[in-house]
Amino acid sequence: MDHKNKYMKILNELKKYKKKDYDFSNGHILGSMCTQPHEISKDIYLKFLETNLGDPELFPGTKEIEEKLIKFYLKLLNAPKGATGLIGSGGTESNINAIWLAKNLSAKKEIIIPKSAHFSFRKIESLMDIKLNIIKLNKEYNMDISNIKKYINNNTAAIVGIAGSSELGTIDPIPQLSDICLDENIFLHVDAAFGGFVIPFLKQLNYKVPDFDFNLKGVSSISIDSHKMGCSAIPLGAILFREKEWLNKISVKTHYISGNIQAGILGTRSGGPVASAYAVSKYFGLEGYKKIVKKCMDNTEYFIEKIRNLGLNLLTKPTMNVIGIKLKNPKELANRLDELGWRVNIMDRYSSIRIVMMPHINKKTIDEFIAIFKKVCEDKGEIK
Ligand SMILES: *Cc1c(COP(=O)(O)O)cnc(C)c1O
Repeated sequence: MDHKNKYMKILNELKKYKKKDYDFSNGHILGSMCTQPHEISKDIYLKFLETNLGDPELFPGTKEIEEKLIKFYLKLLNAPKGATGLIGSGGTESNINAIWLAKNLSAKKEIIIPKSAHFSFRKIESLMDIKLNIIKLNKEYNMDISNIKKYINNNTAAIVGIAGSSELGTIDPIPQLSDICLDENIFLHVDAAFGGFVIPFLKQLNYKVPDFDFNLKGVSSISIDSHKMGCSAIPLGAILFREKEWLNKISVKTHYISGNIQAGILGTRSGGPVASAYAVSKYFGLEGYKKIVKKCMDNTEYFIEKIRNLGLNLLTKPTMNVIGIKLKNPKELANRLDELGWRVNIMDRYSSIRIVMMPHINKKTIDEFIAIFKKVCEDKGEIK
């Protein structure tokens, strides 16, 4: 078989599988924190396909792009001089890097997290033998810090605050956590994997949201994902650190590849997502991202009005474009929606479903969805 025939055969096989997938283009994915990557990110990704940032002396140009991307995040998050960052695969890796650092800086092995923390902290618990002290949430589903001092002890390596929780988009009281961490000399990691590309613009759009970034002196590190609200291609997340020197604490010597030392978890890693995230950040700029956040928030308002009109309740008033809808039997409802080609998330522990109002969703799709959702809710006895 010649090359062309072989290729067509493989392609046809793969297409069969691809057809089974959901895709973002019709707006039917309502429960993902990712979105359709911007058009230019696809072209750029391919151009950098063979670059390897694990071996930076081979690709010094791509390495420069990475440094520029880190600068973009640092500026967005009001980082002081001397701050730095690491690019990786997403929020999970960023959280691992942050706690790895906090553990090595302090030689301690307990962390304090809210109940709303991302499940990646369970991986951290298991990987690094870290003890998780989990703090309950208040009525607004934020970390209840009224008794936090009880959780702090001689073994506390870090406190984690969530700025845009995965389930509900809630923001923990980061300014208060910052004060506590300054007082107690504890590492404060802010998980803004989702919220990092939302909260700065909510502020500019006059929404009332707490401070969460490096302007707060107690904030030690922040995670932010470009492959979520940054609208870039998967995989791309970053962790930013207040002090450049801290990187040494999560670095190892390399014996044969360039650079002599390597920080963080990954070894070989593609420059494709890095170049494409940088391109998208240049393309949109801060004004572009503000517009995206405004659109998502307007659609969130539009959507929750319709949900309330159906007689359903929200778990809490959305802080950002993440919505939790209370239901009697979320699983049954979500499964029925799936059969009809619409995808929402089930949040068992809150007896609800999650909708994330990402940029690929528009008002027309919302109208389409609401009509179907109403019918399904009636069939399943959720509404009369
Ligand atoms: C999505 C998310 C993560 C995990 O990020 P991945 O990119 O899926 O690894 C961590 N924390 C928060 C708050 C998130 O929303």
